[in-house]
Amino acid sequence: MYPDQVTQHSMIDLAGFKQLLSTPQRVVITTHHKPDADALGSSLGWASLLKKLGHVVNVIVPSDYPSFLKWMEGEADVLQFDAVSKNALAKALIADATMICCLDFSALNRINEMAAIVRASSAVKVMVDHHLEPESFADYMYWDTKAAATCELIFDLIHDLGYENLIDKGMAECLYAGIMTDTGSFRHPSTTAKVHKVIAQLIDLGADNHRVHKLIYDTSTEDRLRLLGYVLSQKMVVLPEYATAYIVLTADELKQYHSQTGDTEGFVNYALGIEGVRLAAIIVDRTEAIKISFRSTGSFSVNDFARAHFEGGGHRNAAGGKSNDTLSNTVKHFIDLLPQYQDELIKPV
Ligand code: 5GP
Ligand code: MN
Repeated sequence: MYPDQVTQHSMIDLAGFKQLLSTPQRVVITTHHKPDADALGSSLGWASLLKKLGHVVNVIVPSDYPSFLKWMEGEADVLQFDAVSKNALAKALIADATMICCLDFSALNRINEMAAIVRASSAVKVMVDHHLEPESFADYMYWDTKAAATCELIFDLIHDLGYENLIDKGMAECLYAGIMTDTGSFRHPSTTAKVHKVIAQLIDLGADNHRVHKLIYDTSTEDRLRLLGYVLSQKMVVLPEYATAYIVLTADELKQYHSQTGDTEGFVNYALGIEGVRLAAIIVDRTEAIKISFRSTGSFSVNDFARAHFEGGGHRNAAGGKSNDTLSNTVKHFIDLLPQYQDELIKPV
């Protein structure tokens, strides 16, 4: 049912990589700014595997992450690079690492100030990712843009290395969470029969799927749901002539609803859920920068759009970007771009 070796992913030298893992390594695993379930789940699942193989492993993330991820096994030991009290330790661990694994990102600017230190390190670099147009900084790449999630790739990599028997309940739930969220709960086109087979195996290996769904989706604060209500009734703008809907949130509005990291995750999908809408965006004033999430349906590439205009990227139908301009200028820039994409946006899928 499941292939003996998942050869469709590009892995540079699987045998060499396995050989490397046969001697104890000091491993740092890192993932992108504001880790989501796929980023943190893949990092923690991979960390557990490497620990079982006898390596010393630290997961270091560039920033904080949503509290709905704080149940994941191993999460309590995650080091946050931008936390003042942890920064020196994190730097020392990276400097001392013999292997650095970069998971769920492939553009070094996504790890902020950690990028220069990682780039300069002489450690063996490993990248496991499914984003488009990766930078080439890794010695070992396990990369496939068709993969639904980095957690799926981690499962496949563990399988290819022959260590599937080491996957326990905690790891299975981390990997389940990443696949669940990156596929939009198994609804995006990336949800292949093979994804369901991986999911079935994770459940067989102990993942309590109902528990993971509840922990991620049904633990909102009252404020978050009221913010969603406000956004949908007051802040969503629909431009039928461009098959576009967008939401803008100011820093004051976030404050008014006591918004926490992760609170606006998923909001953009409501805008994409309007019939006829092919491009959706949420533009949020995060104070340190304006952060934008893009979603699309069909052939319109938000990866290209975010790359060309908002220093970002991602996947064809889900991408992000940022702007260091003011919120109002960023919104104006976004709206001013639409006419040049009008034909592409309004043509039928
Ligand atoms: P989200 O909108 O949920 O933050 O991100 C959507 C997708 O785009 C995710 O796969 C995420 O990793 C990617 N992404 C988000 N922001 C950026 C960015 O600034 N640069 C790049 N290269 N990818 C991003
Ligand atoms: Mn991902």
